[in-house]
Amino acid sequence: MTAPAAPEVLRHVDALAEVVGRQHVLVGEQVPARHVQDLWGSDRKGVASVVVCPGTPAEVARVLRLCAEHRQPVVVQGGMTGLVSGGVPGPEEVVLSTERLDSIGEIDPAIATVTAGAGVTLADLQDEAARHGLVVPIDLASKGSATIGGCVATNAGGVNVVGYGMTRQHVRSLQVALADGRLLELSTPLVKDNAGFDLKQLFIGSEGTLGVVTAATLALRQAPRTRTGVFCAVADVAGALELLTAIRAQLPGMLTAFEVVWADAYAVLDGLDLRLPLPMGYPVYVLAEVQGGRPEADSEALLACLASIEHVLLDSAVADTAAELAVFWQARERIPSEILRMQPLFGFDVSVSARDLQDCLERMRAELTERWPQVKLLVFGHLGDDNVHIAVVTGEQTRKRKAEVEHIVYGCVSRSSGSISAEHGIGFEKRPYLGYTRSPEEMELMRSLKALLDPAGILNRGRVLTWGNETDPA
Ligand SMILES: Cc1cc2nc3c(=O)[nH]c(=O)nc-3n(C[C@H](O)[C@H](O)[C@H](O)COP(=O)(O)OP(=O)(O)OC[C@H]3O[C@@H](n4cnc5c(N)ncnc54)[C@H](O)[C@@H]3O)c2cc1C
Repeated sequence: MTAPAAPEVLRHVDALAEVVGRQHVLVGEQVPARHVQDLWGSDRKGVASVVVCPGTPAEVARVLRLCAEHRQPVVVQGGMTGLVSGGVPGPEEVVLSTERLDSIGEIDPAIATVTAGAGVTLADLQDEAARHGLVVPIDLASKGSATIGGCVATNAGGVNVVGYGMTRQHVRSLQVALADGRLLELSTPLVKDNAGFDLKQLFIGSEGTLGVVTAATLALRQAPRTRTGVFCAVADVAGALELLTAIRAQLPGMLTAFEVVWADAYAVLDGLDLRLPLPMGYPVYVLAEVQGGRPEADSEALLACLASIEHVLLDSAVADTAAELAVFWQARERIPSEILRMQPLFGFDVSVSARDLQDCLERMRAELTERWPQVKLLVFGHLGDDNVHIAVVTGEQTRKRKAEVEHIVYGCVSRSSGSISAEHGIGFEKRPYLGYTRSPEEMELMRSLKALLDPAGILNRGRVLTWGNETDPA
């Protein structure tokens, strides 16, 4: 549902239509609901008065130049799967959607890179890479809608970080349109390029506040010849860490995922039309995947590894076939979307050293229970990357207590020297808490960079940090 168009922003519709074509500027009632709210997660709902869909990077640059000339605020939207409301628009903002930037360049298997338009979905890029025997080293449960531009803008993590790293590690070069309409090619697709500052890194993870990513060249990896997985149950984090250490030591370089799900989060799968890898009722579940190149030896090596740490395994199921591994992943990937349906809930994506995690979660649970005796903590995440997602359900019917819950959770995370955002970014939702993880000096430097790259402050205003005395658009 969209509110009536705001008159100020409507002044630019004709000029925007001259740049991208009348049919690619949507106004008022023509704007589909997907442009006003993140697909999942926050209940923050915006107002999309004008949506502009440029078809080329040059059109993106011209749209920005036009908006900069009129000091017209702009918000960038990819697939709207972000979980911190960064793309949620205010009524006075032009929504710049990347959906038409959907071209995928040629893949040369010898060079193993691909250049994708910002609006290409991660799933489409994965399919294209697979046709050449290659894989995109990023994987998220939201891949069907999440775009390459969104992944770059948020420095997305996902389930393969333990093996391959975050998006930042895979970007060879970027094409970025600055707020004033300059279109820049940053870096080269070459493996080695130490010529001066690596400016592209500044834009990766900047959540659309410093520039609009129009295309990215990503490094691809050879598709593995074998993929083997184990779904097991352990008593606690210490047991999971013992398993992690054993796999790393006994199958060096082969671990590509190490996902952990606590009992309450696993329970959301109960009663669904889904094959469960293990029965309900264990304290902690682990899904580990290893990839390699020796068809028989790899699964034997995994079995030998599991046998060597039998004492920590309460139960286990090994995937011998691709279909069985897919069953494990279907269960794991269903968990976030099922949890996100349990509104009202308070969702967190935090990093805490795996060594301190159990203590941190226990402190958090104790503080929350003192305030809400019925509280439920649903925890799952990427333990190999020190990253867990926590959903807090206080049993109340509204989200009025949001700030109270956030102070408790972020306070516990901060006291454990953790980060308030592991992979989802800051957007609007976490902005008040940035100071729990970043120093005043770091935040000041961020403000200086923003002032340099977007002096009129038109891009993604109010997201990540307040830059001046602007008010929140959404
Ligand atoms: C079920 C589910 C599972 C998820 N799992 C993970 C996970 O494992 N790991 C993880 O990291 N994230 C995860 N996410 C979050 C989300 O999918 C990622 O942050 C993703 O990268 C967002 O991409 P998007 O295209 O949807 O971006 P959007 O949501 O449209 O935008 C996100 C932010 O980036 C900005 N932006 C978008 N495109 C551009 C661009 N071209 N140039 C500049 N700025 C831009 C927007 O303004 C906004 O601030 C998950 C989300 C869901 C719903």
